[in-house]
Amino acid sequence: MKRVILFYKYIHIAHPLALRSSQMKLAKRLSLKGRVIISSEGLNATLSGEDKDIEEYKRELTLNENFSDIIFKEASVKEDVFPKLSIKVRKEIVSLNQNLDIVSGKNKKGQYISPDDFHNIIQNNDEEVLIVDARNNYESAIGRFKKAITPDIDNFRDFPKFINDIKKYRDKKIVMYCTGGVRCEKASSLLIKKGFKNVYQLKEGILNYAKYYPEDFEGKCYVFDSRIAVYLDNKNRTIISKCKHCGEDSDIYINCANKKCNLQFICCNKCEKKFKHSCSNRCMEIISVKA
Ligand SMILES: [Zn+2]
Ligand SMILES: [Zn+2]
Repeated sequence: MKRVILFYKYIHIAHPLALRSSQMKLAKRLSLKGRVIISSEGLNATLSGEDKDIEEYKRELTLNENFSDIIFKEASVKEDVFPKLSIKVRKEIVSLNQNLDIVSGKNKKGQYISPDDFHNIIQNNDEEVLIVDARNNYESAIGRFKKAITPDIDNFRDFPKFINDIKKYRDKKIVMYCTGGVRCEKASSLLIKKGFKNVYQLKEGILNYAKYYPEDFEGKCYVFDSRIAVYLDNKNRTIISKCKHCGEDSDIYINCANKKCNLQFICCNKCEKKFKHSCSNRCMEIISVKA
């Protein structure tokens, strides 16, 4: 059996390039695929491989005392969910470009909230609490927590703009979530920097939460691998998204057949055939001319 794991750690890395080469060696030896981002502020990764190789990777990574307390979010998969292995050194492990220093503690971050407490917040209809989805529009479009505010942003780098839109809620209690927790660490920190007083973040994100209360999450959870989006609760599959063409319920993302467009959009099976995998009449015309 194969498995995919997701994990991160904010910690000062003195020599990112050295960590990159040791990670490359380890991941190659175990035939893992996926993406690892290393920076002076930490490590952010998602990898897939055979169960035994993933176990060995986890064992060796956590031997390093910097990473001994990492929490892994895991799921069984039928095949590798990445085409290749990529390990990069970047300025940030998630790009927000706001000069936040959460590793040293210079910038504070939101307090962690446990799945139990988050579940209570979802159950209670407290108007003084705002549930904020820290993910992008195409992620929340296909799945989210009930009552969450979902920013209309294409990219996490646009989250600061969204903060301006919710400025008036500065005195409310803000509870945020993202897929695995890594974005909330920065997003919550930026809210505090911008004057929000009472900021919380769901520890280890939706994927960890789903181990306890999968039924609270509606629709599919977007994942950044070949599965694109997955149901977390196999018993209750609610479709919250609609086909871009006909407006019928659909929970399938496809990419536009016009390679120059390549838009990822929600499309039902019928319209996928009818529009020849294209997002619009215009894109369908373009591919028809080429064919
Ligand atoms: Zn349709
Ligand atoms: Zn298109």
